[in-house]
Amino acid sequence: MEYKSTEQERTRAKAYYHAHKEERKAYNHAYYAKNKQRYQANNKAWRQKHKERIDAYGKAYRQSHIEEIRAMKRSYAQAHRPQHLAWRKAFRIRIKEQAFQAYGGAICACCKETHSEFLSIDHIAGGGNKHRQQVKGLNFYHWLRLQGYPSGFRVLCMNCNFASGHFGSCPHGNLDKTRQPFRQTNLWRPSQNGLSTPNISAHPSRNGSGEGRQPNLISLGDNTGNGP
Ligand SMILES: [Zn+2]
Ligand SMILES: [Zn+2]
Repeated sequence: MEYKSTEQERTRAKAYYHAHKEERKAYNHAYYAKNKQRYQANNKAWRQKHKERIDAYGKAYRQSHIEEIRAMKRSYAQAHRPQHLAWRKAFRIRIKEQAFQAYGGAICACCKETHSEFLSIDHIAGGGNKHRQQVKGLNFYHWLRLQGYPSGFRVLCMNCNFASGHFGSCPHGNLDKTRQPFRQTNLWRPSQNGLSTPNISAHPSRNGSGEGRQPNLISLGDNTGNGP
């Protein structure tokens, strides 16, 4: 038979609870402190065991409260602006450093430059500009981390990155010629026969006499025989 407390018992229990509130609180507090490690280990084990459920719940919650969360983050950032800016700066540095580590460390894959101020992540197959437009609004290093650092990227310094982007490979000669130059400068005008293959030797700096500035030398694809 189910036990049912009487009205009198309930009133007495309630009165006791209120009369000894502080005492009970102190006891619970001390008990928790004494068994803290056990509590924490239990919690941790529980979270690990139910990880998928917890993650799914969190994801569903974030999706259904997306505007609320955004507004909250925004107002927090406004209220704590200096801290927020400092945090963002630290975050940018951290994710950049993490990306370097994920792609072989903070060292240029070509010339071995190690000053991280000169380094960035390079798309091995090219297409960096196009890609940056796709991930617009998201920091590129953050995007890499969210993608779990996919293959197809490497660490290059600005010099080697620029050279391999414009000339198809770096003059240091340490990189595979795996990409097409992505941009034609005015030094690399397409020739009359429609070929648009750039020719580095058309650059005036490669031509002691300065003749490279003459238009007929720039259009090397038409076989005029005037090229260097
Ligand atoms: Zn380099
Ligand atoms: Zn190089």
